[in-house]
Amino acid sequence: MTTPLGEEIARMIALEGPIGVERFMGLCLGDPRRGYYTTRDPFGAAGDFVTAPEISQMFGEILGLWCADLWMRMGSPSPVLFVELGPGRGTLAADALRAMRIVPGLHDALRVHLVETSPTLRDAQRLKLAETGVSVSWHSDVGDLPDGPALILANEFFDALPIRQYVRAPQGWCERLVGLDETGALAWGLSREPEPRLADASGPEGAVLEIGAVAGRIMSELAARISEQGGALLAIDYGHVRSGLGDTLQAVKKHAFVDPLAEPGEADITVHVDFEALARTAARAGAEVHGPVTQGALLHMLGLDARAATLSRARPDKAADVAAAARRLAGTGQGEMGDLFKALAVTPTGFGPPSGFAVLPPLSPERDA
Ligand code: SAH
Repeated sequence: MTTPLGEEIARMIALEGPIGVERFMGLCLGDPRRGYYTTRDPFGAAGDFVTAPEISQMFGEILGLWCADLWMRMGSPSPVLFVELGPGRGTLAADALRAMRIVPGLHDALRVHLVETSPTLRDAQRLKLAETGVSVSWHSDVGDLPDGPALILANEFFDALPIRQYVRAPQGWCERLVGLDETGALAWGLSREPEPRLADASGPEGAVLEIGAVAGRIMSELAARISEQGGALLAIDYGHVRSGLGDTLQAVKKHAFVDPLAEPGEADITVHVDFEALARTAARAGAEVHGPVTQGALLHMLGLDARAATLSRARPDKAADVAAAARRLAGTGQGEMGDLFKALAVTPTGFGPPSGFAVLPPLSPERDA
């Protein structure tokens, strides 16, 4: 076994038997002592991957103004919660909060609540947000957030939530498990009994079906509170517009793919977000769903080009960097995020589309090839 957490998981499996992918992914990312996010700050060029807010301040600023616009359309309630789910280094929140200062009264109304399980990243967020002068509260779960209207941002949060996987076998959909091979190393396996609740799902033998039950529970709770107490959620992630079959579990270390079983706790593990499932869950909880639209379309609609031009005028020496960052965030070419990442918004029923979601028709499933 290659990592201390991998050895721990192998010992646990030897005692208790194979575990599901959901449990495995949850341990790899969130084990209280040795989980990937528990123990490190993985972001940036020197880390394992780079996220949109780390590419440019423009990303967080634009999302902050999106929140400010919604707040005014909501009738400027005070207090209002500003919530971020999985805030990483706190960069997005800091940039968003700074941008929101231009709206009179908003800063005084804001109560900042961050949902974060990693103590290491909570420390990074505390440090980063100290510069904004706002007071911040942390929560481990969305269920612990106080009541009230809430502006909720989630960037690359849902892709970090553990999923269950089922593989089509002759007898039905059997859960994909992590067990041990004859040498005692972690190895993939399958439950013998099929899952009765999936008896009606169709798919060819060997097909993989993913169920994001944790994401579903969180979306359901947030959509219900938004529909009852007001506010909005904006979720941006790598994922697909239509639910489909396929194994999307991937592990990344130092900007390269690695075997998910090889280095538990040392590699990031993510899945593609199933936006259709999230949208269905939010609608079922009584909220209105907007999009998904692509990240590129959203950022352009929300004024990315104007913001880039302003920044370049202020710092002509940085103009080339700003242009490159804008392309990386919103471009549609190789290695650019504009088309790969999608944005979904949730509001109370009858609120109408938030800015950036109004003009464009939602992505049709055909686009998602
Ligand atoms: N939004 C940030 C970070 C994305 S990485 C950015 O765009 O840079 C995922 C983040 O979600 C990390 O902060 C991680 O610690 C947090 N996280 C993962 N699982 C979580 C859970 N179940 N509850 C709360 N936070 C979680």
